[in-house]
Amino acid sequence: MSDARSRPQLVGDLNVVHAASLTRICDHGTARRGTTQGVLDIISDGALAIRNGVIVAVGNTTTVMAQYDEPGVATIDATGRTVLPGLVECHSHPIFDGERHDEYAERLGGASLAEVAAKGGGIWRSVVATRAADDQTLFDRLTIAYTRILAGGVTTLEVKSGYGLTVDEELRALRILEASRVSTPMQLAITFLGAHVVPRYLQSVGDLAADADERATAYTDLIDTTMLPAIIAQGLSEFQDVTVEEGLFTPAQALQLMARSHQLGLPVRVHADAWKPSQGWRTAVQGRAISAEHLTYTPDEEIVEVGATDTVAVLLPIAELIYMTDRRANARLFVDQQVPVAIATDYCSSIHATSLLNTLATAAPWFRMTPAEVIVGATLNAAYSLGRQATCGSLDVGKRGDLIVLDCPHPEEICLAPGAPLLDQVVIAGSVAFSQR
Ligand SMILES: [Zn+2]
Repeated sequence: MSDARSRPQLVGDLNVVHAASLTRICDHGTARRGTTQGVLDIISDGALAIRNGVIVAVGNTTTVMAQYDEPGVATIDATGRTVLPGLVECHSHPIFDGERHDEYAERLGGASLAEVAAKGGGIWRSVVATRAADDQTLFDRLTIAYTRILAGGVTTLEVKSGYGLTVDEELRALRILEASRVSTPMQLAITFLGAHVVPRYLQSVGDLAADADERATAYTDLIDTTMLPAIIAQGLSEFQDVTVEEGLFTPAQALQLMARSHQLGLPVRVHADAWKPSQGWRTAVQGRAISAEHLTYTPDEEIVEVGATDTVAVLLPIAELIYMTDRRANARLFVDQQVPVAIATDYCSSIHATSLLNTLATAAPWFRMTPAEVIVGATLNAAYSLGRQATCGSLDVGKRGDLIVLDCPHPEEICLAPGAPLLDQVVIAGSVAFSQR
């Protein structure tokens, strides 16, 4: 495994001209919500200039090129095509080993989650396999995942730990994630997810007999007193993610970890209400989380009671599809309540969806969101959910030159074309990072 800290960033000069739809999704200083969730700010015959990796001009082609038509600058002619901000994937768990396709087959055949877990399936199976894998194996799997995720149009990717669940194993996962920056041109945002599930054993096989509630309390304290300070001391994470879910971590335990995280200067994300109504949404907002993710079972009354907030609701349609949940997150109610909504894949050991573009095509009918609303959910709102809005999520002057070129005249086509090879090019900081041609 390479020990290089980061890949040398290729920083380019680039002009993009004659886009049928240059889709800006302008950043007005706040995440999109309510009626602005679905505003794309399209310029026809649009152009954009990137210098030293940063966007310096956006407008119609005649205006931009009057100033930036310089000899020797690479140019993409986007005639008949759509240009979008590089997609921002804000929820993935890519560091794991082992396979779980057989569990999905069993569940499709009628087995319950509890039956699959009783046979050794579920997240714990991935924890066992991941602990047993050497660093190089995990690094190689990450590299493959990154290549596929990039080919789905992503330029900024959030990556979580969470299949280690001991001090040493979580530190190891975060170190491998840090080292893996060298294997992709995507910008990575690394999240420590110690409170993913409660491990079956805290230190040894001997404590299996401990009461589940006692084990959750002891593990919460371990994260609080040992894991989190060690991770922060080593500068290995940008966020802490905490699960609030009945049977895993209670709102009180989550609030304890969130308070500690804020005290130590680490912003918080939350896995909430994925399996049952667990007061996860309320707890995330109360704990000043930057995002709350899943929200499949958040009751309508709780969404209304909590009301407008800056906490971004990150919704995961493919997870609901593959987990065969009997409810979907109420995206429309979140939007109506002035909550910014983002969309992500939930790439993990049990969901190998890597294309955020295809996920958007699923999200629109699944949540009855408009194509424009889901596109904002994978660009500007996802950037806000990562605190990365200063550098990505929209095509605004001053942001990094991250964009994608799609072989269709209007961005709404994304939702009509699941699985179609629409993606022509991915540009990161003004350099072409992926090309279909
Ligand atoms: Zn997740």
